[in-house]
Amino acid sequence: MKIKLSLPVQILIALLLAIILGIVLPVVADYTSWMGTIFLRALKMIVAPLIFTSLTCGVGRLQGGKDFGRLGLKTLSWYFFTSFVAIFTGLLFVNLVKPGVDADLALTTPVNEIAMTSGSLSDNMIRIVPDNMFRALVETDMLAIIFISMLFGYFITRMSDNNRNMLNNFFEAANELIMKVTDFIILVSPFGIFGIVIKIVASQENLGELVYRLGLYMLVVFTGLFVHSLITLPALLRFVGKVNPVKHMKAMVTPLLTAFSTSSSNATLPLTMAAMEKNAGVSVKLSSFTLPLGATINMNGTALYEIVAALFIAQAYGIDLTIGQQLIAAFSALMAAIGAAGIPMAGMVTMGIVLTAVGLPLEGLGLILAVDRILDMFRTTVNVWGDMVVCAIIAKSEGENIYPES
Ligand code: ASP
Repeated sequence: MKIKLSLPVQILIALLLAIILGIVLPVVADYTSWMGTIFLRALKMIVAPLIFTSLTCGVGRLQGGKDFGRLGLKTLSWYFFTSFVAIFTGLLFVNLVKPGVDADLALTTPVNEIAMTSGSLSDNMIRIVPDNMFRALVETDMLAIIFISMLFGYFITRMSDNNRNMLNNFFEAANELIMKVTDFIILVSPFGIFGIVIKIVASQENLGELVYRLGLYMLVVFTGLFVHSLITLPALLRFVGKVNPVKHMKAMVTPLLTAFSTSSSNATLPLTMAAMEKNAGVSVKLSSFTLPLGATINMNGTALYEIVAALFIAQAYGIDLTIGQQLIAAFSALMAAIGAAGIPMAGMVTMGIVLTAVGLPLEGLGLILAVDRILDMFRTTVNVWGDMVVCAIIAKSEGENIYPES
């Protein structure tokens, strides 16, 4: 008898196997982690061409520049709104639970080892305009690629009919090709996910001890993420978007689990786009506009984590932040989340923005370093879920018939 398991089931089995084997037989990781490496390389390989072709094609198909500006404003407003709600959820719980107050946490990791290479906010803004557009593509510089694609797409709409159609057809064909390659990568994802997860589990010898020491802090981050992703976002989806949240989440299982295991919104992006288009029925025009932008700037989970971590550090150092300082921290958490690239641990690097904004010691990062990789898996999942929810809400508001029977 031949049993055919669906992809999400295959991924779940891969995850469970990786966790169990990573604990009881960690040596297996030495022989299997290459599968994860190849999977990640393949996803990284495809992400720059995917964004470039799909976004150029998406914007190029918009009707005149007016449509583009309106959609852009709507998308950005939703992204900022949901990020702020996430930050205030984190702020609420960290003030209620006070995980760092009276904590006896020794600084064990030398903080100077952390590369504070994120640059200032203005530097990051300037870098949106690349000095070399080919290098931006080669180096997968996400914000710059988004900028180039929008520029190209916008000016395609301003071309003469003949040339516009020719370029639109070209980018559409290129986009179809890239999506086909993406489908193939998705097919082998259970092996890749197994390889990544077993390596993480096998290398965390002190897992129990670490979780114990930072348990309370993690609990606050988890509770915040839980409330935001399972209560706030579904409520917005249900009441504003008029979409069934359970149905939406079920349709998104594959990219969500991939986000969890890769800790990278960028790496997950090809799968997010495929699921939104094929399972939810969102148009390519919308998904290719909102999702690459979301993977780069909309990080609800990261924003929530940044504020909780900053306040946890303040509490652990015995520093009482005033409401005003907490508001500054909240605003800088938004900037830090926007500035963080969609790659593993990026949020940890941009934490410097929040800490310096409210005058907290950078050494405080040493406190949270140990558990950051674990939290990264959860916050990245919420980051990607936030993009999916906003994309669905916008699709509905644009009159698209997603999940027709719900
Ligand atoms: N890993 C996260 C992401 O890719 C970013 C972060 O480190 O918070 O979405």
